[in-house]
Amino acid sequence: MRLILIGPPGAGKGTQAKVVVEQFGIPQISTGDMLREHKAKGTALGTKAAEYMNRGALVPDEVVIGMVEERLKLDDARNGFLFDGFPRTVAQAEALDATLARLGLELDGVVLIEVADELLVERICGRRTDKATGQIYHLKYNPPPPGAELVQRADDKEEVVKERLVAYHAQTAPLVPYYEARGILRRVDGVGDLAQVTARLVAAVSPKAK
Ligand code: AMP
Repeated sequence: MRLILIGPPGAGKGTQAKVVVEQFGIPQISTGDMLREHKAKGTALGTKAAEYMNRGALVPDEVVIGMVEERLKLDDARNGFLFDGFPRTVAQAEALDATLARLGLELDGVVLIEVADELLVERICGRRTDKATGQIYHLKYNPPPPGAELVQRADDKEEVVKERLVAYHAQTAPLVPYYEARGILRRVDGVGDLAQVTARLVAAVSPKAK
């Protein structure tokens, strides 16, 4: 299974990705998580990426593409993967196509999780991560267990979220027609409870849905 999850920030890509990878036994490749790890470790790549992430802009293509190419060389990606948050520009999608072609691999599907803009800001601003488990919660819609030590992503503050939405519409939304033209795009309604959205997603990526 070689899958891509796309959708606006706050659509639930990260949360859903965790369930799907568990079900299909493939690694989740989240460029956002990878960049945040670089940032936390203070690597040169992380320091450069932080300049963009902190203001809600996309990190330059060449930085992300290089990082993904390295990640795809690891053994666990041999039998499949689920990209979450990558590609985010047409240039990244073209680079991924070239890499996969070189490896003789094909994508099985691209799933777009659709959520209207009006709902996204509230979804993102209420988002918290359990520091110990990495589990993502929402203060109102998916409350964390009592006593959990929660952290809020630095870029989940309202001013930054608005910039991330602008970047999504300008730079990432063009991936929809890009993959639609190839006949591999599937749309999933991202509004509903977690389990409902997961069920739609699994149905959309099951081989019989092709
Ligand atoms: P995410 O966790 O996917 O919401 O990503 C958080 C931030 O990391 C984004 O707002 C971007 O600044 C950066 N980022 C993550 N993935 C990419 C990507 N594929 N291309 C460019 N920037 C990215």
